[in-house]
This record gives sequence, structure tokens and C-alpha cells, in this order.
Amino acid sequence: MSQLEMVNANICQASKVLELGPRVEKLILNPNREVKVEVAIELDTGEIATFTGYRIQHNDARGPMKGGLRYHPTVDAEDVTALASLMTWKTAVVDIPYGGAKGGINCDPETLSSRELERVTRKFIANIREIIGPNVDIPAPDVNTNAQVMAWVMDEYSRFFGFSPAVVTGKPLDLHGSVGREEATGRGVAFVTAEFLAELGRPLQGARVAIQGFGNVGSFAALFLQQAGAKVVAVSDVTGGVYRAGGLPIPALVNYVRKNKGMVKGFREAEAISGDTIFTLPCDVFIPAALGGVLTKERAEVLQTGVVIEAANAPTTLEGDEILQRRGIPLVPDILANAGGVTVSYFEWVQNVQQFRWDGERVDNELRTLMAKAYRDVSRLAKARKLSWRTATYVLALERVAKATFLRGVQ
Ligand code: NAD
Repeated sequence: MSQLEMVNANICQASKVLELGPRVEKLILNPNREVKVEVAIELDTGEIATFTGYRIQHNDARGPMKGGLRYHPTVDAEDVTALASLMTWKTAVVDIPYGGAKGGINCDPETLSSRELERVTRKFIANIREIIGPNVDIPAPDVNTNAQVMAWVMDEYSRFFGFSPAVVTGKPLDLHGSVGREEATGRGVAFVTAEFLAELGRPLQGARVAIQGFGNVGSFAALFLQQAGAKVVAVSDVTGGVYRAGGLPIPALVNYVRKNKGMVKGFREAEAISGDTIFTLPCDVFIPAALGGVLTKERAEVLQTGVVIEAANAPTTLEGDEILQRRGIPLVPDILANAGGVTVSYFEWVQNVQQFRWDGERVDNELRTLMAKAYRDVSRLAKARKLSWRTATYVLALERVAKATFLRGVQ
């Protein structure tokens, strides 16, 4: 089953709870616009390379569309559509005035020089410039894209339309970015983990945490959880993993990874484990923070965790989800758990539009307020209607999007 089918199945389940009916389901499942462009660049060698770029705009009922740009060799239209749809529901869950979109290019940044990456980015943005904009669709970072890439996005768009910092978020601090954006998703994941454990009556202090993926989201989630008293016993990435029963020294590991091209492999202060072992280690909290579809039926059967907090987008397959439910392992879904990033992206956009800067304390306080409200809304709904957390989260989001759609009118 594809990621899109998984996301759509979750939406349909929530739609049944709300009794929206098949006509509304169709309206809500289909993306508003799907754009596919060729991204042809000259490599440093003088050769020509071509990639395919996508921007899928899923829904704008609640506001301009918002969603990241992913650079990965496996990017395709269907996965980008699934991720665009997730953004519609995520922005609705945290109740920020946006719709959902996503973009991607099927390139492998590992094999490209910085100049080549810049050319890929500029070419892509020049190709889609007419369909993005501060009040239309606002890209942001995702897997393998960072603040530098966002700076190129802003600059390329501004070449055509004048200085436009609000066209993209996740920009560097020196170029109208927001304090707190880089760590926002990990901070939100740590916040949700603490709230969820407290609600289940389980301690965060000393809780054993295992995290798959040690990029932006995984590493900041690890840092904040450790600061809050948890023990991050294992992390893994595309190169393998590391384990220490007493808890990994996360700041030292973060430093090591920064110097080691983003890889945990070779970190000497911990035991090396294979990437797959992370799914079998006994822990209290398991956090997938890499790619989608990793919690398969087989892995869900062997997972030895108290709870799952979905930091990655769509990390659990439908079969995996069923098995976790059958095994009584509670889960906080992606569209709530990782919404901290888009929430601070929204704050960055607000600051750009108002040409006014917030300090870190204000960003963190506002993030906490919005995440806490979203968390409470989902928790109440799950209890009141006896729904799983995933279904409750989708019901909340779908109700908000459906209301906005009908208020605006369907002609
Ligand atoms: P990143 O590129 O910074 O890091 C990705 C990490 O996943 C790296 O450590 C990489 O080695 C690891 N990884 C990749 N393939 C893997 C594999 N096959 N097995 C094990 N590890 C693998 O990306 P990120 O920004 O941290 O995003 C991670 C996830 O969180 C993605 O699903 C993304 O969509 C989601 N997300 C990110 C943000 C954000 O603000 N960055 C916000 C919401 C959701």
C-alpha cells in the first residue's frame, strides 16, 4: 500500500466518523493542483543533468498552502501528494491559517556539489514561480534541504517579483529567518512526548528513548528529551546506529555528526548497532524520525516500546498501525507530533509579513501555547468519542477543513 493510500484511508476513516459522505470525501482527497517540471542543469563537469521536480498543492480552504521541499532520489508524484495532504491536516490540527502543499526533486544531494545544488534549486523555483507566493503557497525545508536552500529559494523568487522573504520559511537567521525555527520540530516532538507520557501516568524522567533518524528532527528531539530527563539509549540513521544502555551523550553525538557529514557511524562513545536493530530494542518511547513507511507489519510485531511518537511524516503503514493497536501500543500521529516545525514556520512568515522580529522566548511561548491547545483538543476528542489518537487527530483536522470549505462555498 502506498503512502497516499495510507493517508487517504486515514482521512476516509475520519470522514466516516463525521459522516461527511463520499462526495465530500472526493472533494477533500484530491489535490487542487499537481505540477511536474523538468529541472535541467549544467553539472560542474559541463555535462547536462535532468531531474523531475514536483509541487503538489493539496488544499487551500483555510489559507495559503504550506509545505516543505524534499530532495531525495525516491521522490515521486504519489508520495509528494501524500505529504501535501498531510500538510493540509497538520496545519488544521494546530489551527494555523494555512492549507497544505509539498514539493520535491528526485535528486541525490550527496552526489551534487553546493553550486550544483544551488542551480537545481534556482531552476526549480524559476519553473514554479507563478504558482508559489507569500499569499499562495509557501515552501519550507524537509528531508535534505536546509536554510541555505531556502535562501536560494527566496533569492530566485525575489529576482522575478521583488524582495519577498515571506515566500519561503526556514531561512537563515541572517536572511529573515526566525529564531527557534531550526529546532522547532524536535522541540514540539519532545513537548508532545512529555504530555503523552504524563497523561498515561508514565514518567519521562529516566524513560528510555530510541530514535530512528538523527537529522534535524531526530537530533533536536533527542537533545530536548534528554534535557527533560529522558535517557536516549539508541539512535540510528542511514549509515547504521549507536546504543548505550545508560543513555547516549547527545551533545557529543550531535557534534560528532556535524563533523562526520551528518552520520552517526563511527561514534566511539557508544556501541555500534545495525539500522534494523533500533526496531527491536526495549524502550519506553520509540520515535521514527527518518522517512515514511518504516513501521511495517513485521517491525510493529517486534517493536518493544511503551509508546510510539511519529516525528517523521507517515512512518507507520496501515498494517503496522493495526498491529500496534492490537498490541495496545499507544501512538501520537505525525500530524500532531511533528507540527512544531510548520507552527514556527508560520511565526517566521508572520514576522516577515509584519517586518517585525520576535525573540526566542516569544517564539517558544507561542509554540508551546499552540501545541498545548492542539494536544488538548485531540486528547479530549479521543476520550469523548473513544477514538484512537490517529483517528481523533484526523477528525479534528477534517472538521476544521470541511467547515472552511463549506463556509467559502463550493460552486
Ligand atoms: P534530515 O534530512 O535532516 O534527516 C533525515 C535523517 O533520516 C538522517 O539522519 C538520515 O540519515 C536518516 N535516514 C534517511 N534514510 C534512512 C533510512 N533508510 N534508515 C534510517 N535512517 C535514515 O530530515 P529531517 O528534516 O530531520 O526530517 C525527518 C523526518 O521528519 C521526515 O519524515 C520529514 O518529512 C519529517 N519532518 C520534518 C520537519 C522539519 O522541520 N525538518 C517537520 C515535520 C516533519
